[in-house]
Amino acid sequence: TRAYLAQMDATRDLNAYITETADRALAAAKDADARLQSGNARPLEGLPLAIKDNFCTKGVLTTAASHILDGFVPPYESTVTSKLWDAGAILLGKTNMDEFAMGSTSGTSYYGAPKNPHKRPSDGATVVPGGSSGGSAVAVAAKTCAAAIGSDTGGSIRQPASLCGVVGIKPTYGRCSRFGIVAYASSLDQAGPITRSVEDAAIVLQAISGHDPKDSTSVPQSVPDFEALLGKGVKGLRIGIPKEYRVAGMPADVERAWAEGIKRLEAAGATVVDVSLPHTKYALAAYYIIAMAEASSNLARYDGLRFGLRVPGKTLDDMYRKTRAEGFGAEVRRRILIGTFVLSAGYYDAYYAKAQKVRALIRDDFLEAFKTVDALLVPTSPVSAFPPGEHAEDPVAMWLVDIYTITVNLAGLPAISVPGGLADDGLPLGLQVIGRPFDEATVLEVGRVAQ
Ligand code: GLN
Repeated sequence: TRAYLAQMDATRDLNAYITETADRALAAAKDADARLQSGNARPLEGLPLAIKDNFCTKGVLTTAASHILDGFVPPYESTVTSKLWDAGAILLGKTNMDEFAMGSTSGTSYYGAPKNPHKRPSDGATVVPGGSSGGSAVAVAAKTCAAAIGSDTGGSIRQPASLCGVVGIKPTYGRCSRFGIVAYASSLDQAGPITRSVEDAAIVLQAISGHDPKDSTSVPQSVPDFEALLGKGVKGLRIGIPKEYRVAGMPADVERAWAEGIKRLEAAGATVVDVSLPHTKYALAAYYIIAMAEASSNLARYDGLRFGLRVPGKTLDDMYRKTRAEGFGAEVRRRILIGTFVLSAGYYDAYYAKAQKVRALIRDDFLEAFKTVDALLVPTSPVSAFPPGEHAEDPVAMWLVDIYTITVNLAGLPAISVPGGLADDGLPLGLQVIGRPFDEATVLEVGRVAQ
């Protein structure tokens, strides 16, 4: 714990953390030492972790990187984090992120953007760590923690893991409880680990999985021993390559990394076949309609009365207006407006209901493919880490960065991003393995071999 706290100190320029909890961590470490010495160690005893700042942590500031949650100290703990503390893990701090997890660079944080450790501020130019769990990916890549927790609504664990050269897994929707996670889009949000190895991902995923009566969408299914299931190899498995993901204009280095991943799986005895996911081209539009609709509804609760910031006004309405205008950043306001529009009476059927139908078709595409293959291999991101200014003026270009990750959330599937070599610019590229519902074990194993 002391070594990680020292590394947090040495990497302050990366802005990975919003809140650090050094005193609490040292006290917990003492307790862990005592348990280890007396033979009472729990599964994660003494493991120092970083937690994305959209998980409610009792008694510890939780901001979701938004001004509107100023000073919000939750009186309760999220289920995922409470499972970690019960297993003996130690909280080092809460990590930086895009405001309310809306973004692909972590640049919408009210607390300033975190920086990708593959290009330090002292190198001159910086590149983004990806988002929205950018701080968690930076914290892991910069070795300031043993592992971190992120959340993934449309790629927010996998894409920053890819851009920072580490491992990130989004489990099946319903595998982990969403209780106590600051909600973005409830039908898409899932928690998951960001780690330096697939083995670590298996161990942490094990600890946070399981049914929770406090989340009606968490699934009452037993949790396999993910760590014990690792190491079987991929011999005899069938791996699908969706032809719709081979988009025209795919950068040569991304294509090369993908081909090398395919070769590694073939060399290990897997059979690689082409599959088709015909509705992929509608995914981006459907995702942003559904995500923004749910966000506009979820974010209605920030009214200046119940949480965080309150800007006084002459009347109640005036207070609402001033608090929300000042408390939410530009990207969040854009999404609330679009989300409110697509849910409004005259447009609901044209946009929201249509998007839900497209979502069902996208899920059916995957389930059809999984009749003939055990998992899919695709790139995690169409680009390596880019400079912070890129796409800043063009929200739609920024949303396109999520092209390979959002389909997985729409379909509720598990997927991992593992390191997949380097881009021509020397920055990391990720490979993504997508699996059948609740088959995280295969996803982890294929990812382990493909990297
Ligand atoms: N970049 C996507 C978005 O902005 C995904 C975010 C996420 O997974 N939280 O919605």
